[in-house]
Amino acid sequence: MAVKRSPLRADIDLEAPGKRVGHVRLPYSSHESAYGWIPIPIAVIKGGEGPTVLLTAGNHGDEYEGQIALLKLIRALEPEQVRGRVIVLPRMNLPAAAAGRRTSPIDGGNLNRVFPGDPDGTVTEQIAAYVASVLVPMAQASLDIHSGGSSLDYLPCAYARMPQDADDRARQHAALQAFGAPRAILVESPLTNFSMSATALAAGHLHFSTEIGGSGTTRPASQAIADDGVRRFLAHLGLIADAPPVTTPTRMMRVGGAEHYVYAPVRGLFEPAFTLGDDVVRGQLAGRIHFPEEPERAPRELHFAGDGMLVCRRVVSLVAPGDCLAHLASDI
Ligand code: ZN
Repeated sequence: MAVKRSPLRADIDLEAPGKRVGHVRLPYSSHESAYGWIPIPIAVIKGGEGPTVLLTAGNHGDEYEGQIALLKLIRALEPEQVRGRVIVLPRMNLPAAAAGRRTSPIDGGNLNRVFPGDPDGTVTEQIAAYVASVLVPMAQASLDIHSGGSSLDYLPCAYARMPQDADDRARQHAALQAFGAPRAILVESPLTNFSMSATALAAGHLHFSTEIGGSGTTRPASQAIADDGVRRFLAHLGLIADAPPVTTPTRMMRVGGAEHYVYAPVRGLFEPAFTLGDDVVRGQLAGRIHFPEEPERAPRELHFAGDGMLVCRRVVSLVAPGDCLAHLASDI
């Protein structure tokens, strides 16, 4: 049986020393462009001997801190400053990023739910397959920069899966402290096993993700965490000599299971009773869902199922059953 090969190709040399910026070309024949390809931006900056680090953003197209941080890094970093190789994909799911959407307008694909992808699949599955089968094996470490996107807002944090192995935990802890976000949230029950993070960890990478802000925008404080954190991650791995210092130690937190989440059970308008950063206790009022079609009907009250700090909230007031409204994290 023939081995499936990704039809995607980088139009720059990813192996030779130097700095190159180009595209990963994804062949795509559409009504507008019969023999066209989708140009996913890629950069490589390779200096002396050292490890390869893969930096990605725009996995979800409406998360901007990472896209901007990586564009800045591509312009600033020169091969003579690098011991090793940095491969940068600032807009990994380009069709989604170009449309300012979480998911691809071409196939509806959520890139972070289709890893390790399929080289014969949809456009989104083909992107995942290229990253998983070509770029991930080139690297020993990776960082996938996310934020809350259009529907969620986060207290800026690094976001990582809780490793089972003690050595892995220590290595991860050191990297999270080096990244220097105000918080690092370790996830005990990941929402998906089909993410970039799952693929990178399965390949043995030192890897974590982030949730830096959100609301479909960026802010000076959250942008600085992304900009500086990327440099501190590279310095921690020995690829660059200098990075901005960490001012405050990272607060280590965990997010557990259902007790840490609040979901909408009904359709309506959500009125939160909390602010990001609040410490709440089990049974406390989380908010009310109002029924605009039935003005005389009392709103449905929602309560927290556990204790913790509000680290994430939905920013869109219109809610439907199944929407995540908030989630908590607690200190480790
Ligand atoms: Zn995301």
